[in-house]
Amino acid sequence: MILKVLLVIGVIGIVYFMFIKKKPSVTQKTTNKKDDIKANDMIECSTCGVYTEVNESILSNAKYYCSQECLDKAS
Ligand SMILES: [Zn+2]
Repeated sequence: MILKVLLVIGVIGIVYFMFIKKKPSVTQKTTNKKDDIKANDMIECSTCGVYTEVNESILSNAKYYCSQECLDKAS
């Protein structure tokens, strides 16, 4: 009997773990979208106006940000 309970808990645990593990990849949309911009081009931060290299900036909603703080301010 207890084996059955453990099996059910195990299955729920695996499903729960898989669901949690999938979540972080959704928010990890940084520099995937590079239209005509090269990796070392300078782009302007949408929040503070500082110029940063594209490969060091954060891309969110088609806008570039120099840092996580600026991204947080914008959203
Ligand atoms: Zn900034």
